[in-house]
Amino acid sequence: MNSFDEMNLLPDLLKAIKDLEFEKPMPVQAAVIPHLLKDDSGDMIVLAQTGTGKTAAYGLPLLQKINTNNRKTQLLILCPTRELCIQVADDITSYGIYMKKVKVAAIFGGASIERQIKILQSGAQVICATPGRLLDLLRRKETDLSTITNLVLDEADEMLKMGFREELEAIMSETPLEKNILLFSATMPDDVWQISKRYLKKPLEITIGEKNIGADGIIHHCYMVQAKDRYLALKRIVDYYPDIYGIVFCRTKKETQEVADHLMRDEYDAEPLHGDLSQAQREHVMQKFRNKHLSLLVATDVAARGLDVDDLTHIINYNLPDEAEIYTHRSGRTGRAGKKGISIIISIFKDKKKISEIERNIKKSIEIKKIFTGREICERQLFSMIDKMITTEINEKEINPFLDIIYKKLEWFERDEVIKKFVSIQFNRFLEYYKNAPDLNVSEYNRDKKGGAVKYSRFFINLGTIDKITPPELIGLINDLTEKKHITIGKIDIKRNFSFFEADHKYRDDILNSIEDAYFEDRKIVIELSNERQHGKVEKDSKRRTFHRKR
Ligand code: AMP
Repeated sequence: MNSFDEMNLLPDLLKAIKDLEFEKPMPVQAAVIPHLLKDDSGDMIVLAQTGTGKTAAYGLPLLQKINTNNRKTQLLILCPTRELCIQVADDITSYGIYMKKVKVAAIFGGASIERQIKILQSGAQVICATPGRLLDLLRRKETDLSTITNLVLDEADEMLKMGFREELEAIMSETPLEKNILLFSATMPDDVWQISKRYLKKPLEITIGEKNIGADGIIHHCYMVQAKDRYLALKRIVDYYPDIYGIVFCRTKKETQEVADHLMRDEYDAEPLHGDLSQAQREHVMQKFRNKHLSLLVATDVAARGLDVDDLTHIINYNLPDEAEIYTHRSGRTGRAGKKGISIIISIFKDKKKISEIERNIKKSIEIKKIFTGREICERQLFSMIDKMITTEINEKEINPFLDIIYKKLEWFERDEVIKKFVSIQFNRFLEYYKNAPDLNVSEYNRDKKGGAVKYSRFFINLGTIDKITPPELIGLINDLTEKKHITIGKIDIKRNFSFFEADHKYRDDILNSIEDAYFEDRKIVIELSNERQHGKVEKDSKRRTFHRKR
C-alpha cells in the first residue's frame, strides 16, 4: 500500500502520522499494518532491523485495537534495553497522542520503582517494558498481564543475546494463552527460532528485504545550503542530534582547524585531527575521542586513517571529497557492528554531479533533507534532556546529605515551577540562539524523479496560447527538441504570444542549442534564457526541423 490513508487507520492515528510527517508507509509498515488490523491477525514473525520503521508497523494497528473504555493492560511490548523501551514508549505515545483515553507506561530498570507502580495503578492499556523490571513488578503483584491481547517482542534477538530468556518465559507464563505474539527481530539465531517454535502458533513470516538503511546500517542524508552557511548548517545538525558521536570530515588541514576552532568556541566537545599536529598531539586527540571525552572529531581523511572506532553515530561531510570512493570509505566508518549510522553531506549546488556519482558508488539513494528549523532543534533538545533525566541513575548515598537543604530552598516553588526551572537551565541557551534563526535551505532546489536535487533555469519560448500550446505539449516539444533527454521540467507559465518554463539547469545548453532550425508547425522556435532575453541569438536557417502537434 502506498499511503496511510488507504489503510483503514483511525482518523486520530492518521492525524498523528501527519504531525510526524510520515509521508508514506515504509515497506515493513505496508506489509504489517493491514495484516495486524484484521480481527484474526494471529502470530507473526517479522525480520526487520531497527531503522526500518517497525515501531509504527506494530504500534499503529495495535493502538487501534485497544479498547479505550477499558483501563486494563491490553498491549505488552518487551524491549531489550531501557533506551529502546523509552524510545518505543515515546513513539507509541506520539502515535496515540489524539487517542485521549490511551495511556502508555514505560517500565524499565534504573528508575524509581514506586513511581512506575503508581503509573501502573492508574491504569495503562499499553506497557512497554524491559524484562527484568517487569518481572520484578509481576512478582510484587503490582501488575497484571492476564488481560493482554497482544504481546510484542521487540528486538527479540537482542533480548535473548542479553540473557533474558528466563525472564521472557516467566513473563509469558503470566499472559493468557489466546493472545497474539508478534516477534520482531533483525536476525533469526537458534534461540529466537526456539522461542518462536515454542510459543508462536502458525506465525505469518515477513522479511523486510528493502530496508531504509540498507544492510550496512547506513542512512545517507544531504542538506543543501549556500557555501557561506556551511558552518551554521553543521551547528544545526549537531544540535539536532544531542547524542552525536562522530567525525566531521573536511578537505584541508586549514579548514579542519577552522571548523574545530569554531566548534570549540561555540562550546562543543570537538577537536581537530590533521597533519599539522605533532604525532603526540594526534595520539592524544584520538585517545580522547576513543574514550568519548570528545563527541566530535574534525578531521582530514589522511589523519583519520589511524583511527578505528566502531560505534560512531554520524559521519558529517563538511565538504565532499573529490572521489566518490573516499565518501564510501568515510561513511563506512558509521553503521558498524550492527548499529544504525547516519552519513551526512553538507552540500552546495555545484556538488550535484558528485552526489549522483556517490549514489552510484554506494548503490543507494541519498535523501535530500531540509535543514532543521530552530523550533525542531529546541524540541529535540528538550525531549532528549527529559529522556536523559528519566534514565539518570540516582546515587542516593552521595546526594542524600544535601537533600534537606535543597528541599528547603525549593520549598516555595510548586512542582511545575521546579520542573520548568530545571529544564530551562539547559534549554534557555538553545531558545536564545534559535529565537530568530533564519531558514538555511537553498530554495531554488527541487527534487527530480529520483529524489535528487534539481536547480532550474527559466526559459522564454516564443510559443503561447495563440499557438494552442498546452503544458504537456510544451514538455513533449522540449523532449523532442533535445532528443529525449527526459529533462526535468519545473513551472510552466503559458502566455498569449509566448511562454516561460523552468528546466533542469544542467541541460541549459542542450535546450538552447536544440532549437537550431527547429519549427513548431510554421513558427520558427526561439528559446532563450528568460533573464537574458536581450542577448537572444539570431538563428541561422539551414537544416529545417519541423515539429508538429501530436494528435
Ligand atoms: P524504527 O525502526 O521504528 O526505530 O523507526 C526508524 C525511524 O523511522 C524513526 O525515527 C521513525 O520515527 C521513522 N519512521 C517510521 N515510519 C516512518 C515513515 N512512514 N516515514 C518516515 N519516517 C518514519
